[in-house]
Amino acid sequence: MKTVLITGASRGIGAATAKLFAANGYTVAINYYRSVESAERLVQEITAAGGDAFAVCADVANEQAVSEMMQSVLQRCGRLDVLIHNAGIANQALLTDTTPQEWHRMLGVHLDGAYYCCRAAIPAMLKNGGGKILTVSSMWGVTGASCEVAYSSAKAGLIGFSKALAKELGPSNITVNCVAPGVIDTDMCSSLDADTMKGLAEETPLQRLGTSTDVANALLFLASEQASFITGQVLGVNGGFLI
Ligand code: NAP
Repeated sequence: MKTVLITGASRGIGAATAKLFAANGYTVAINYYRSVESAERLVQEITAAGGDAFAVCADVANEQAVSEMMQSVLQRCGRLDVLIHNAGIANQALLTDTTPQEWHRMLGVHLDGAYYCCRAAIPAMLKNGGGKILTVSSMWGVTGASCEVAYSSAKAGLIGFSKALAKELGPSNITVNCVAPGVIDTDMCSSLDADTMKGLAEETPLQRLGTSTDVANALLFLASEQASFITGQVLGVNGGFLI
């Protein structure tokens, strides 16, 4: 049975991805940091539907925690086929109001997290003779967003990270791709009021906000054999918001 580790899978896009991969036969390692109850509920839901999932706690910005998480995944499953680095945080503030702590935390979760998770996952994939690494960036990492300089920097960094790693790991039969969602209706957007969300939907050529499942479907495709000749790519899942 193929195994996927999804970071930040307790809620939102990660949780929808966990359900979709489980429904498609993967054993799913559900990483969470703070939301232990929703991670455990998700494990129960997947198990009740006949799937195989378990929860693993780690702050992805903590090297030791990531290394322990990887050990427990490999102990339980014996292999890792797919890594999805999806964990993320958002913060809206002028750059001049952003504290050094907020700045470092933003880069820590998104970029250090990608580095720690990939570095821990690659040896297991090499042992398998290949694998798939997927990162979740954002359209703001492509265009930049006002009042989200830290977030945009982290997400742009993730795109460079994914492209460079794709070149490095291609000869080892490990593909690395990135999805760059547009506005997806999850907790991450909860600071935006209803009018703003409505405006964003209207600004989107497909005239709606994205769902977590929209992103999960793209990730499932990129993890599939059908995508075996695709690497180093950034796939926009944004309803045409950014073309
Ligand atoms: P969400 O609903 O707020 O969920 C965020 C997830 O990340 C949670 O499961 C959370 O886990 C986890 N997380 C946060 N910090 C973590 C840490 N230090 N270690 C491990 N897990 C951590 O957000 P979402 O919308 O699903 O976002 C998922 C990804 O998509 C993020 O990378 C985000 O930047 C990206 N994205 C989202 C949108 C959007 O419009 N929603 C658009 C573009 C890109 P706990 O609750 O357990 O701490």
